[in-house]
Amino acid sequence: MNATELNESELQNLKESLLFQKSSILNKSHEFKAEQSSVVSVADEAEAASQDIANNISIHLHERDRTALYAIEKALGKIADGTYGQCEACSEMIAARRLQARPFTALCIECMEEQESHSNIYQ
Ligand SMILES: [Zn+2]
Repeated sequence: MNATELNESELQNLKESLLFQKSSILNKSHEFKAEQSSVVSVADEAEAASQDIANNISIHLHERDRTALYAIEKALGKIADGTYGQCEACSEMIAARRLQARPFTALCIECMEEQESHSNIYQ
């Protein structure tokens, strides 16, 4: 039983959309890394090689993409454990239309507006 008012096939579509967005961010990070590798020093390369791949990818991502990737991972986890669609701040159901427009949002409209009034969190 899912917390969301979305039906099974709508949820499946959102999941696919999330996976697609995730892979496009990861692909972008690989391109970005390829650009960077031509300019880094030998010392930097040795240091980078000692880090694990996931960590390395997130370091090379733009802040905005990193935030989105984190939100996507979290949304996928919620779909898996059946809590997807619940606002993280007030625990109310997030409207289905809002989830379809922004599948990885963690907040309902009211809570997002509340947060945006004092920060610029990417939603
Ligand atoms: Zn809320």
